[in-house]
Amino acid sequence: MGYSQSISIGPYLEVPKEKDIQKVRVKRICPDHPGKKMKDEKFCPMCGKLIENVDEHYTEKVSPMSLLYDFEGYEDDDLYSPEFLDHLIIPNQYPPSNLKGDISDGGDVDLTDVSEHVKKDLEWFKEKYGKYITFLESQFGELNVKLRWGIVSYWS
Ligand SMILES: [Zn+2]
Repeated sequence: MGYSQSISIGPYLEVPKEKDIQKVRVKRICPDHPGKKMKDEKFCPMCGKLIENVDEHYTEKVSPMSLLYDFEGYEDDDLYSPEFLDHLIIPNQYPPSNLKGDISDGGDVDLTDVSEHVKKDLEWFKEKYGKYITFLESQFGELNVKLRWGIVSYWS
C-alpha cells in the first residue's frame, strides 16, 4: 500500500488551476435582522416581519477537470488530471510514440528522434481531444490553454 510515482512522457495541457464561477443562492432573511439565520420560518421570531427571499451572489472556485465533467461533449475518462496538479491535464491513453517513462525495472527512453515523437503526438492530441481544447479555451481564454509535450511526474 502507499503512493507510487508515475511519469507521463508525451502531450499534455497546461491550464490555469482554477476558475471563479459566479453563483447565486437564495437566502431567507428578515429585512430588519439580516444577520439571523432563518430556515422555514415564515415570520421573524424576533420582530414578526415577513421573511424575504434574497438572492445571494457568491464565487466558487472550480478546477479545469470539473469544468470538463460538466461539458456536454466530455466522455468519461478521456483525460486525467493528477491529484494536486489541477493545472495539468494528460490524455488517459497512450500517444502514438508511447514512450514508457514508468520503467520500474530500470531501462532507457530513447529520445534521439524526439522531434518526430513530439510532432506525431501533438497532432494526435489535437485531433483526438480538439473539442476539449476548444472548450477549455472558451473557459480560460485561448492564450491560457497551452498544449505541451514533455514529462509530467505525479504521485497516485
Ligand atoms: Zn426581524
